[in-house]
Amino acid sequence: NSADVLALIIKCVDFAAVKHVYQRRKDPERTPYINHPIGVAKILTEEGNVYDVDIIQAALLHDTVEDTDTSFDEIETEFGVNVCHLVRELTDDKSLPQAERKRLQIEHAAGSSPGAKLIKLADKLYNLRDLERASPEGWTQERVQEYFEWAKKVVNGLRGTNSNLEDSLDKIFERHCARS
Ligand code: NDP
Ligand code: ZN
Repeated sequence: NSADVLALIIKCVDFAAVKHVYQRRKDPERTPYINHPIGVAKILTEEGNVYDVDIIQAALLHDTVEDTDTSFDEIETEFGVNVCHLVRELTDDKSLPQAERKRLQIEHAAGSSPGAKLIKLADKLYNLRDLERASPEGWTQERVQEYFEWAKKVVNGLRGTNSNLEDSLDKIFERHCARS
C-alpha cells in the first residue's frame, strides 16, 4: 500500500544520503553528490512517467556501490534481490581501467534489462544537463566534447525504451554531436 511505498522510498533516500555524505559533484559549485541520484529518480517520475518502485529505489541507489563502501549484500538485505540486481547492472567494475569501463558501458547498454535501461537513460540525461550547465573544474572543451560523444554511443544501445527521455537526450546530442 501507499504508506509502505512511501516509507520504503524515504528509507532509500536516507540510505543513499548517508552513504554519499562526504561526496561532492564535479561542478564548480561542488554540489552535494546526493542531488544526483535524487535528480535521476525525479527525471524517471516527472519526465519518464516511471512509477515502478524497484526502479525508483535502484535509481536512488545506483551510485552507492560504485562510489562508496556499500556492498551488494547490504543492498540486497535492505532493499531486496530485485533492487540489488538493478544496482548490479548500473555498477561499473572499478578494478578495470577507466577506458575499458567506458567501452564496456557502450558494449553492455543494449543487453541491459528494461529497468536498467530506463535508469541509464535518466542518469545520462542528468549528467549531460549538468555538463551543459557548467564544465567541471579542470575539464578542457575537448574532454567535455568527448563525453557528449561517448554518452551518445551508450544511449544508442538503450533506444526503444522511453521516448520522452530519448527525445530529451537527442535534443542535447543535436546541440553537441555531429549527426550519425
Ligand atoms: P569521468 O568519468 O572522470 O567523469 C564523468 C562522470 O562524473 C560522470 O559520468 C558522472 O558519473 C560524474 N559527474 C560528477 N559530477 C559531474 C558533473 N558536474 N557533470 C557531469 N558528470 C559528473 O570523466 P571522463 O569520462 O571524461 O573520464 C574518462 C577518463 O579519461 C578518466 O580516467 C579521466 O581521468 C580521463 N581523462 C580524459 C581526458 C580527456 O580529455 N578526455 C583528460 C584527462 C583525463 P556518475 O553518474 O557516476 O556520478
Ligand atoms: Zn549516476
